[in-house]
Amino acid sequence: MAIISSITWKSFIHDLVINHCEKNGLRTFTLQDFISTHSETLQSFRPTNKHWQDKVRQQLQFLRNDDLLSFADNRGTYTLKNFLILKDEVEDNKIGEVLASVPEKREYLVETFARNRGWVKLALNHFGDLCLCEGCTNSFNKPDGSRYIEVHHVIPLCEGGEDALWNLSVLCAHHHRMAHFADDGTKFRLRDTLLGKIASLTL
Ligand SMILES: [Zn+2]
Ligand SMILES: [Zn+2]
Repeated sequence: MAIISSITWKSFIHDLVINHCEKNGLRTFTLQDFISTHSETLQSFRPTNKHWQDKVRQQLQFLRNDDLLSFADNRGTYTLKNFLILKDEVEDNKIGEVLASVPEKREYLVETFARNRGWVKLALNHFGDLCLCEGCTNSFNKPDGSRYIEVHHVIPLCEGGEDALWNLSVLCAHHHRMAHFADDGTKFRLRDTLLGKIASLTL
């Protein structure tokens, strides 16, 4: 990484966080992992600063004040906010760029691109592979025998929702489209149902 002395700690850390999330394909990360992965880069930014770890923590706090990060818990887990599309997600499919001007479609595409990335693992581990909609039995198996399921952000990223467990859910293809493209009444009823289920499953 080229280091120009005029770069502030804050933008340096912000870039490094984005870079970190892009590499992991996941917007949630721990301070511990961030520091150990990038200790050399972090120390070489201002080599005379012996308290670089405190500096990192402080800058993450500043990024949180700017609403660019949020605390996922009290144990040093952070979530990158207000950064809609990670580099790989765009490269996955050029259609993303064409539709990116329509926020809802863009959100939907981000989820689609991310299907085989970190979010899916996180959501499947906690919510299983059956649609969370009340009484839904829509299901089919993929060629490898595993069940087809889609991961959905209950509060869309464009409305300030986060890439964290409590904002993830699993839905069948039909209910997932409903969650994005139905009339408002239907959408909000579905959202309430999901929020209730998630609260009971993530306790
Ligand atoms: Zn969705
Ligand atoms: Zn369903």
